[in-house]
Amino acid sequence: MFLKGKRALITGSTSGIGLAVARALHAEGAEVILNGFGDEAEIAALREELSADYSGANLLDVVAIEAMMAEAGTVDILVNNAGMQHVAPVDEFPTEKWDQVIGLNLTAPFHTTRLAVPGMKERGWGRIINTASAHSLTASPFKSAYNASKHGIAGFTKTVALELAQTGVTANCISPGYVWTPLIEGQIPDTMKARGLTRDEVINDVLLAKQPTKKFVQPAEIGALAVFLCREEAGNVTGANWSIDGGWTAE
Ligand code: NAD
Repeated sequence: MFLKGKRALITGSTSGIGLAVARALHAEGAEVILNGFGDEAEIAALREELSADYSGANLLDVVAIEAMMAEAGTVDILVNNAGMQHVAPVDEFPTEKWDQVIGLNLTAPFHTTRLAVPGMKERGWGRIINTASAHSLTASPFKSAYNASKHGIAGFTKTVALELAQTGVTANCISPGYVWTPLIEGQIPDTMKARGLTRDEVINDVLLAKQPTKKFVQPAEIGALAVFLCREEAGNVTGANWSIDGGWTAE
């Protein structure tokens, strides 16, 4: 319970990776603030499970982000995790989708970070953990906005790490390969269409083809890495981009 007394805001934590990170930080004693969309009753159940506060802020709206951060008060651990994907060839990529993907995956973490950093500096301790992706290090076709946003968040993280290097605040990325979550399920139909493949072909020949382990990454594995990054022993780990991708980017 080494995180007792620390407050953690995890964006996009009503589902998938963010929820697993919230559960892992809660298990170590952190007070958790959830964010994201979803069924009201399910969110109420999650809040009860984790004794958590909750913000339904739409992170595409800077005014809503500012209100969420003001309401959150102290944030010792900021996990910028909410993200979205859109799969289409670049010359057919809907411009509003480009703006949304960049807005949620890259611009929202800028806003939450700029608003959380003053308090972290004042307290002399903080952890900023950004869920990037294997797509922060390498690219796949038909994911131009996503690849741009994830390469962008990796660069942003390094900059923040350097600026805060002597303050007790670290900033790191976690870069998962394919994790079986609603985000992955949701892109299967578009990938089938873009590549002319069946569902099984997309899973085996496109997704798992990338991962030498031939296994999807488990959300709880990402939670465990986030917990490590919050430890005192990780105080010198900053500006890093941690792959957890079954060997994908080793090739
Ligand atoms: P998910 O779809 O299960 O969860 C996304 C979360 O973000 C949900 O809580 C959702 O409500 C929230 N969200 C969506 N739009 C929002 C908005 N406008 N404002 C506030 N919240 C919003 O997705 P996931 O797979 O758990 O993805 C989480 C992060 O991990 C993303 O940044 C994603 O790019 C990254 N990632 C996922 C994979 C994967 O294979 N699943 C791989 C690498 C990186």
